[in-house]
Amino acid sequence: MPPTCIFCKIAAGEAPATVLYQDELAIAFRDIHPVAQTHVLVIPRRHIESVNAVEAGDESLLGHLIVVARKIAEMEGIAAGGYRLLVNTGPNAGQVVYHIHLHVIGGQRLRHMQG
Ligand code: AMP
Ligand code: ZN
Repeated sequence: MPPTCIFCKIAAGEAPATVLYQDELAIAFRDIHPVAQTHVLVIPRRHIESVNAVEAGDESLLGHLIVVARKIAEMEGIAAGGYRLLVNTGPNAGQVVYHIHLHVIGGQRLRHMQG
């Protein structure tokens, strides 16, 4: 674990977060700067920098993040209304935290995707 990675620290319980769900592989917590009524981040406990660092063999872990996102959507009451899953990758996408994470964004009508 890189000593400076804030999401590794949250996964290890060494940094504060509002944790909604956790298991042996993943943890989900509220984004500190929510862009919508519901804004939750789902991360693997294992440090993977970004989609660019994903390898063959990571398929089940990444699929698990989506299963966790679905649980979060149900817990937050936004499953039926709809929500957005987003993974920013690299500078052009504005990735800020280089520990892969799935944004779960919803609870309101979202603006359509823009480039
Ligand atoms: P990005 O890397 O652009 O996909 O976004 C990183 C996200 O992490 C942003 O939405 C931040 O608000 C969020 N974030 C950064 N630090 C924390 C933290 N300590 N706890 C919760 N969310 C965070
Ligand atoms: Zn990390």
